[in-house]
Amino acid sequence: MNASLTWASKGIRPLLILGVLGLVVWASSISSAYQMRLFTIVGIYALLALGFQFIFGHAGALALTQGSFFGVGAYVTGILSVRYGWGAEYTLFLSLLLPVMLAAVVAAPVLRLESHYFALATLGIGQVLLLVAIGWQDLTGGSNGLSGIAGLTIFGFEIKKGQGIMLAVWGCVAVGALLSWRITRGLYGAALQISRENPVAAQAIGIDTARLRYATFLLSSLFAGLAGALYAHTIRVVSVEVLEFPIMVACLTIAVLGGRTHVAGAILGAVLIVNLPEWFRDLEKYYLIAYGVALLFAVIVAPYGLIGLLEQWRAKLFPERASTPHQPIALPARAALPMHSGPLLDVRDIRKRFGGLKALDGVSLKVAQGEILGLIGPNGSGKTTLLNVITGIYRAESGAVQLNGVAIHEEASFNIASSGVARTFQNINLVDDMTVLDNIAVARYGFEKAGLLQAAGAGWQQPAWQRARGNAAYLLEALGIGHTAQSHAGGLAYGIKRKVEIARALALEPTLLLLDEPAAGLNENEQLDLADRLRAFAKTGLAILVIEHNMPFLMPLAERMVCLDHGVVIAQGTPAEIRANPLVIAAYLGAPEDVQA
Ligand code: ADP
Ligand code: MG
Repeated sequence: MNASLTWASKGIRPLLILGVLGLVVWASSISSAYQMRLFTIVGIYALLALGFQFIFGHAGALALTQGSFFGVGAYVTGILSVRYGWGAEYTLFLSLLLPVMLAAVVAAPVLRLESHYFALATLGIGQVLLLVAIGWQDLTGGSNGLSGIAGLTIFGFEIKKGQGIMLAVWGCVAVGALLSWRITRGLYGAALQISRENPVAAQAIGIDTARLRYATFLLSSLFAGLAGALYAHTIRVVSVEVLEFPIMVACLTIAVLGGRTHVAGAILGAVLIVNLPEWFRDLEKYYLIAYGVALLFAVIVAPYGLIGLLEQWRAKLFPERASTPHQPIALPARAALPMHSGPLLDVRDIRKRFGGLKALDGVSLKVAQGEILGLIGPNGSGKTTLLNVITGIYRAESGAVQLNGVAIHEEASFNIASSGVARTFQNINLVDDMTVLDNIAVARYGFEKAGLLQAAGAGWQQPAWQRARGNAAYLLEALGIGHTAQSHAGGLAYGIKRKVEIARALALEPTLLLLDEPAAGLNENEQLDLADRLRAFAKTGLAILVIEHNMPFLMPLAERMVCLDHGVVIAQGTPAEIRANPLVIAAYLGAPEDVQA
């Protein structure tokens, strides 16, 4: 392995080094107090935007609260410093704590809302805070604000204004950038990505997407509080301006312009937003127009921000050499389930309506450990709906679902997945931009206990992520598609995508596997191959429920079959019994000779 490859695999890129060098050169060429302050403000905005990237970029939610959290951080420092004379050793901590507490309180109701309502609700929170700041004169100084905030003094040690505070701010940017980099890469980052791009799939592999969103929102507010506090110490005045909308607009612009998920995007965006007004100053009254046009241009040519654009160019000019394939790591052998006398899956009298339509009208079925059950029926007979009820995507109006004797029908989807029920989807649910390997590796999230703190503490090597990828490589081999590991899932043939979904489901070490039309898009050889592999999995004790229309595939595979029609089980039995059943023939199969066709 040569040096450049090692560096690339560690994520250190020539462009990044160039960028950091640029900042250092800029910082050391500063010759006036004004320039120094400008550079400090760039750092503060970068921190603010680094935080905003968590909720906006990584969680994909347009939260318009970041400016408000910044304002709260600034006011906490301002009020405690001016009114009570507290040192930064206390005020800094409280400037972080208060925005986080505020975020924790507002998140519960607000994070449930869908996109534009979410944005509106978060906007409302900002307006309330602004009114409080204006109205509560005794505390905040009203519209005059508070002046005379002390410099950054911690336990009597004073960080000098000018250069001292500039270095302190950029030190915080460096730590914040490193933290963000660690959190948003690896297993936790992959979990964020699948939650953002395909929440249904994320929950189907046991990820609590709401909890992830909550965590990113708190992180955003933490960074905003820090940026606000540093701002108060730099400018030494707080007024209602810190709570007003332009701060939020600036933050949003930075993320859109620089890039919403790249750490470097926050910094480049901050550099631009602070300097663009300077660069465009000669345009005078045309300034706003030029600014708007530049922004629009950036959004059109670089939807992933300028850093996203640079990344694209870099990938074209210096394509990464394929990294060495991951050494497969076998999953632990299936442990025998604690003895339970009944079936593994017990579905009882499930009813599910959509408006006037009875999609499931009293469906009961059982699957034993290690059994392969075929589920058939005409289109619209309720097969997929039944899978969605079992996996908690839909709630049934009545009936019960038990897994190994434990009721699961009131559990959240991600909990059902974690308890050992894995599935694939009739309409493929992969993350197109992720490699095949990572699409599968992310399903190891629950097993690696890849929480936020673990992510923050993980070093360069990301051991949990490497193990997860090793497991993914093993599963790809188990399905005979190891060669696709490094391809992006979006570009794969349909049949391969189906196998990738099966591999992802198996990564959950399930006791029950639910497959929704797994043979669709597979040619005859591939079907035979898949059937063999499924049989082998069942031999290890895995119970499999297969929905299929393809009888030549299903009949030799399934030990038992259930036929649905209009949401009712019309027959069950061995494949031979099903094939001969007049009800099944009338509703679905047609005359026996058609089956062979
Ligand atoms: P199958 O998988 O057997 O082809 P489905 O379970 O997808 O059938 O659908 C059963 C019936 O329920 C169909 O009539 C379908 O239109 C209806 N249906 C399924 N999902 C929904 C939904 N989310 N909203 C309304 N109707 C639905
Ligand atoms: Mg279906």
